[in-house]
Amino acid sequence: MPSFPLLFDLGKQKPTTRDIANTVKAGGRDALTDAERRADAARYQEVTCRSALNRVKGMPFEWTLNPYRGCTHGCHYCFARRYHVQFEMNADDDFASVILVKHNVAAVLATEIDRPAWARELVAFGTATDPYQPIEGHYKLTRQCIQVLARGRTPMSIVTHPLQRLRAVRALVDAGINAGVLMAPIVPGFTSSRSKLERTIKTIADHGARFVGCNVMYLQDGTRVHFMKFLEREFPSMVPRFERLYVKKYPPEAYRKEVQGLVRALQERYGLTKRGEANPEEVAEEQSEAEQVGFAW
Ligand code: SF4
Repeated sequence: MPSFPLLFDLGKQKPTTRDIANTVKAGGRDALTDAERRADAARYQEVTCRSALNRVKGMPFEWTLNPYRGCTHGCHYCFARRYHVQFEMNADDDFASVILVKHNVAAVLATEIDRPAWARELVAFGTATDPYQPIEGHYKLTRQCIQVLARGRTPMSIVTHPLQRLRAVRALVDAGINAGVLMAPIVPGFTSSRSKLERTIKTIADHGARFVGCNVMYLQDGTRVHFMKFLEREFPSMVPRFERLYVKKYPPEAYRKEVQGLVRALQERYGLTKRGEANPEEVAEEQSEAEQVGFAW
């Protein structure tokens, strides 16, 4: 039988997240032999995604987008820790040291928003890990996705880290874009004091933000287990207070209202509003221009 040489070597197909879960389940995370260990000691595993946009329910947005899974910042309170369990990894060290990289996310996104059915609804970045964690400097996937959405005149919001982002808020507001800040999570006893909130909100106002909002920390599944282990290790005297406050995944409503009331008073003091309240006519106009951006920490 004649044989023909291959004209192109298409290279090894990257695994999907399901392949990753199966591999780790069978052989532990060390079975991820293609994961690249970089200078920060984390391991980066490229994966092929079949969809870029995820539809969600019960949130202030319909669609989410996460170019990476896992996050090297490794915040103890991070709600996304528990999602790593989906890949058969743990919500502790694995979450912060084995990062999945959706290498083809921007190309898939472009296909999705080119569909005639795409209604240009708001897309929320970073709902399951920081889209600007350090590896973004190498892959630039978040940047590519933003370019795709901007070309498709699709509104977006971004959850990420503060200081550089406040400078970005200033630049966006100066460019006429309705940009603001979501402070999240507010961690009871750590970042919930009036003085810390006031300092933060004043800084947000100083950078020209148009709105500010807040969410109190919630603890669920692997994140809850991880956070309580962290407290026992580093702040054992606080454990009984958190056990009382977090009988359920959220603190009692009365506590959340107290924090929200404090934030509300500070919003007014510094001339900020809740998201969507800033000059409704302007907001409506700007939203129709598909340019709403939010930053959070
Ligand atoms: S930076 Fe955000 S995504 Fe990363 S660990 Fe911290 S809270 Fe989680």
